[in-house]
Amino acid sequence: MTQPTGRAAAKEPTIGGRPRIYSPGSTHVVGDGFHVRNLFPSHDLDRDVSPFLMLDYAGPTDYPPTDHPRGVGEHPHRGFETVTIVYQGKVAHRDSAGNAGVIGPGDVQWMTAASGVVHEELHEREWAKRGGTLQAIQLWVNLPAAFKMTAPRYQTLVQERIPVIPLDGGAGSLRVIAGEFNGVRGPAATFTPVQLHDLRVKARHGTTLGFAAGWNVALFMLEGRATVNGSEPVTEAQVAVLGDSGAPVLVEAQQDATMLVMAGEPIHEPIARYGPFVMNRQQEIVQAVQDYQAGKMGHLS
Ligand code: MN
Repeated sequence: MTQPTGRAAAKEPTIGGRPRIYSPGSTHVVGDGFHVRNLFPSHDLDRDVSPFLMLDYAGPTDYPPTDHPRGVGEHPHRGFETVTIVYQGKVAHRDSAGNAGVIGPGDVQWMTAASGVVHEELHEREWAKRGGTLQAIQLWVNLPAAFKMTAPRYQTLVQERIPVIPLDGGAGSLRVIAGEFNGVRGPAATFTPVQLHDLRVKARHGTTLGFAAGWNVALFMLEGRATVNGSEPVTEAQVAVLGDSGAPVLVEAQQDATMLVMAGEPIHEPIARYGPFVMNRQQEIVQAVQDYQAGKMGHLS
């Protein structure tokens, strides 16, 4: 990290407070192809992780070879974005807005459901035939009321487009999926300011991350073990919730650690949630159900 210039007597940044650490709150199977552990909305964290709504950690799960790809069939979404990050395996997507794509290790799919789409999320056919380990995250990012009913959008962010930044002192690396890190911008277009980073810190190394004051910050540990601002170690499938102080976050790994860094400007609006629909008011949920049933979110061809 470079020292800020033009600021007299710049002090070393002090490290922020210790995070609250949560283990998965529930375990379930989405369709027949995603064995997930849920971090939120379990634990009633809405205000502390806004604009993020849901974090499901899928796998790592071994699937035997099959000619009938597992996954989750046709279902709707309205009012937010689904972000799928694949670490192992391959996932195929198809939606009623006419978008389709396959994402594999290192790739990210950023789907804006907004006014409504119907889609399916399946193991990719050829990958399913061979079988293998699936490891992925699905993160839901809320939209402010002003954008909930805008047109759906779809971004496939392949690995080659996601910048990799080496950390100081050979501590590891950080991939910028969305937002900015050390002046490097990630490829995802977002509706509100969001940082989403794939962080790898090597054992016995540390790194300090900076965030804007007022932004909520959370770190999810996929693999490994690290302390965060001197906390108890955060271990596999746990999330460290840091709040919105904007204080620097010190990550010190005891074992090679793979983390998803989530930060964003909170959306200060009411949340009405029912299954795949996330709106502001209950009446809008009723409308979403009616619109879906009336076919207004389209169908898969
Ligand atoms: Mn879905």
